[in-house]
Amino acid sequence: MIDVLSLLYPKTCAFCRKKIPRQVSGAYICPECQDTLPWYTGAQGPDLFAPLYYRGAARSAIHRFKFKRAVSCAKTFGALMAQSVHGVTFDAVTWIPCSLPRRLKRGFDQCRLLALEVSKRLGLPLIPMLTRKRHGRAQFKQPDAKSRELNVQNAFAARGKAAARLAPGARILLVDDIYTTGATCAECRRVLLEAGCHSVRFVCIARK
Ligand SMILES: [Zn+2]
Repeated sequence: MIDVLSLLYPKTCAFCRKKIPRQVSGAYICPECQDTLPWYTGAQGPDLFAPLYYRGAARSAIHRFKFKRAVSCAKTFGALMAQSVHGVTFDAVTWIPCSLPRRLKRGFDQCRLLALEVSKRLGLPLIPMLTRKRHGRAQFKQPDAKSRELNVQNAFAARGKAAARLAPGARILLVDDIYTTGATCAECRRVLLEAGCHSVRFVCIARK
């Protein structure tokens, strides 16, 4: 069961789970984590936005979110992701859907939760534009970049209605959780561009 109460009333730091005195711009982060998290310090964009590096406390929190159903983290992650996006205009937000078996096992689609927060904060419509055609093995289990590329090849398709509803030339912000080699994002971008979108850029919680 998803802990609905924790979704409505997150009162602990999303990273170390300490009680926090106040909410800082929509993100639940204690002062210690604010100081010590592996913040990404390079330039954001134009193609990839991500507030954190995938290591240390950021990595543990993402694992809790994905595998221990810590869904309240989506609020904080989404807030940080939205803050990292700037300098580019978008028409809509969409997300990389997780496979059905994984969603059933997990109880939720983690990228959809993140995309919901990001779209709210950026004031953009959230549109489901992608569907999974087949279920590859988990990307993080792939040994190298080439295997990751092959694992996601033709794994996605554009949703017919959503793609048709979008004006040609839509600028899409695509939500993923972790950016590793970018193989999944690149494959989804290919599919969305083929469906008529003008541009596809990515936002993730953390990059490797
Ligand atoms: Zn903390």
